[in-house]
Amino acid sequence: MAEKGKQFYEGKAKKLFTVVGSDDLVIQEFKDDATAFNALKKGSWAHKGEVNCAMSSALFKMLEASGIHTHFVEQLSPTDMLVKKLEIVPLEVIVRNIAAGSFCKRYGAEEGKEFKQPTFEFSYKDDALGDPLINDSHALALELATEDEIDHIRHTALKINDILRAFFRKRGILLVDFKLEFGRHKGEILLGDEISPDTCRFWDAETRKKLDKDRFRQDLGGVEEAYAEMLRRVNETV
Ligand code: UDP
Repeated sequence: MAEKGKQFYEGKAKKLFTVVGSDDLVIQEFKDDATAFNALKKGSWAHKGEVNCAMSSALFKMLEASGIHTHFVEQLSPTDMLVKKLEIVPLEVIVRNIAAGSFCKRYGAEEGKEFKQPTFEFSYKDDALGDPLINDSHALALELATEDEIDHIRHTALKINDILRAFFRKRGILLVDFKLEFGRHKGEILLGDEISPDTCRFWDAETRKKLDKDRFRQDLGGVEEAYAEMLRRVNETV
């Protein structure tokens, strides 16, 4: 089994460790800490790290089986995931099926409006700038990615949306929107980061109850229970 080496990075929700004897692999450890609104709001709740690690592992495995190339190697412990080391493309890749969050704020759209087709956007991953919305030509001008990489990321993100949407629909969950990150590994673009209630909006299909980080962002209560419920749904055999 991969041996955990030194911590070399700590983000808001995860820590990254080297793997003893390997330059190609890293271990991401999922924390119980959460932030929202560009870290203006901070919190923490029990089992968040475990839920996000288990759910991300299950979804990465499922996506790999559907032909998506990801950084996932294996889950090492309840909170540790062995992944391929990536040079992260500094773009947050956001796909939306239903209006919520910053889409509503930006355009005055009503929360819950279902789109005829998914939307796609990039944010420039830069905390100091507040992760601003960015278009392709600006991303190219800043040399954040090449034209081919941008095309590949867009195509892959929309394919992932189709796969995830169908997966969650079968489990009585609406996939409202989500954020992905991609990175380069040995000349290939791989899906990285995590897929969890921290990075996706999930609504119960019947009741439209929010089962994601919006419960923390909006002080709705029951955040720990919502995360546990989402893991239960992902693990359901349908
Ligand atoms: N998201 C994320 N990290 C971010 C920003 C957004 O994981 O730094 C996710 C968020 O959880 C949601 C989707 O991306 O599922 C779209 O978020 P939105 O742009 O609406 O921003 P927010 O309302 O979260 O500020």
